[in-house]
Amino acid sequence: MAARVAWRSSRAKQRPEETIKADRNIGREASGRLRAERRPRKKSRGARSLFHAWPEVIARLRKADSRALLLDFDGTLARLQPRPDDVLLATGARRILRRLALSKDLFVAVVSGRRLGTLQTMIGVEGIHHVGLHGSERAGKSTVLGKRSRQDLLRAKRDARSKMDALPGVWIEEKGLSFAVHYRGARPAIALAADLILREILAPTRDTLRILQGDKVWEVVPREVPGKGVAVRELLQGLPDKTAVMYFGDDETDEEAFTVLPGQITVRVGKANGTRANFYVRGPSEVLRFLVLLEKELQ
Ligand SMILES: [Mg+2]
Repeated sequence: MAARVAWRSSRAKQRPEETIKADRNIGREASGRLRAERRPRKKSRGARSLFHAWPEVIARLRKADSRALLLDFDGTLARLQPRPDDVLLATGARRILRRLALSKDLFVAVVSGRRLGTLQTMIGVEGIHHVGLHGSERAGKSTVLGKRSRQDLLRAKRDARSKMDALPGVWIEEKGLSFAVHYRGARPAIALAADLILREILAPTRDTLRILQGDKVWEVVPREVPGKGVAVRELLQGLPDKTAVMYFGDDETDEEAFTVLPGQITVRVGKANGTRANFYVRGPSEVLRFLVLLEKELQ
């Protein structure tokens, strides 16, 4: 990991080409009511374009004793689709991940809200570290819920199914230690109804459950689920202090990871404002483009 890498400065002039419109936080737009739990935020000055800052990024990577590449999956490595089961990792992305995972100069991990087994199957690359369910599922380690959290989660799941499954465009995804309420296909009035129902269901469980806002999805998770910030800290344990960390993510859940990586190469996918990341790219194809550049520089 400590080996120096021959970086080529000829990549410094690369610029983004693709425009992908960010489509976030529809629940709040639709209803203005249901809100994922948030910490108080520092006023953001906006992230900088990763490609515009390329010379600086390269310089940081060159100076580091080691390098870590951490990636969210949905909306970051792979394009979002109407249903999670329809999301696919492009062949080109898998190929580049496979090569990066073989690099002795790079630690590679994917940190996702998906189940660990699903994530491993969808990525299908050996040598990558996987963390599922927002930090609660990782190889050889899994969060065990306390009795009250378990009971509250079961009750909330049951109520959500019985009260929301019939709403057009709304569906419940079972995720073991959590569940997700998807409303991508719902009209705003229906999303508003779902918002009200979910708030009512969760009102008695404030101490045990919380909501994570995704892209047209509310995920209900126990507070005992550590979150991506804790997951990232755990992943980086054992790496040298002067590790340059690159973290790419497109969701509010990724903001927790950005928070624990101040001064690192944190990259929000899909938007430049309202993020704690230091840089942004416009979509998964720009993430892939970065990976290609990174691999070329690592050679
Ligand atoms: Mg995502």
